[in-house]
Amino acid sequence: MRIDIISVLPELLEGPFAHSILKRAKEKGLLELVVHPLRKWAVNEYGQIDDYQYGGGAGMVMMCEPLANAIESLSGERKYAEVIYMTPDGELLNQQMANTLSLKENLLIISGHYKGIDERIRGHFITKEISIGDYVLSGGELPAAVLADAIGRLLPGVLNDETSALFDSFQDGLLAPPVYTRPAEFRGWKVPEILLSGDPNKIADWRHDESVKKTGERRPGMQQD
Ligand code: SAH
Repeated sequence: MRIDIISVLPELLEGPFAHSILKRAKEKGLLELVVHPLRKWAVNEYGQIDDYQYGGGAGMVMMCEPLANAIESLSGERKYAEVIYMTPDGELLNQQMANTLSLKENLLIISGHYKGIDERIRGHFITKEISIGDYVLSGGELPAAVLADAIGRLLPGVLNDETSALFDSFQDGLLAPPVYTRPAEFRGWKVPEILLSGDPNKIADWRHDESVKKTGERRPGMQQD
């Protein structure tokens, strides 16, 4: 799978993809992540990509021309299943959305800045608008990295134990059960006896019960099996 990201501040995206699981995904050739500096398509030699907003008011708006040229130029090289704009007023990101997007071959993600991007770009080029939560960040790079991470870890072969993503929270409409590691007793706090029993059926039942209990307490509205 390939994810292209258009950004005013590509440096912000170097860190998240340089380590751990996403790094491994890239090295294994399972995920290709390419960040494109929007200034490559700036309207003048000063690297301008934003301008004052019509109607007045504080805050710059990302201009149509650089974005249109960037999207058209990249779309000429490959067909994107979705052209995504990260924005607080978009559809809230959830596991189901990450699952669906992880099945696509090519995605193009636009990171906004300042007041956001000119509405005409949203109307004419963007096919999907995604928010990572009901709060406002200063730029779309972290949201783009969050989305790429949520998608990338689902690609077959990326996680060492291929089944492990299936048992994470949300995959089956349940939150994940508690987890423990050695030692079996720490400061007098004991690991639940059943996890030491070696009985896979009992352990599976216990985990399921704990998941159901936690989901009921913390996300009572969440869809369950
Ligand atoms: N004026 C806009 C916010 C702009 S924030 C508004 O009130 O809706 C600047 C950029 O940061 C946005 O263009 C978007 O790309 C990104 N951004 C900020 N918060 C975000 C969120 N919760 N989810 C996704 N992207 C976000």
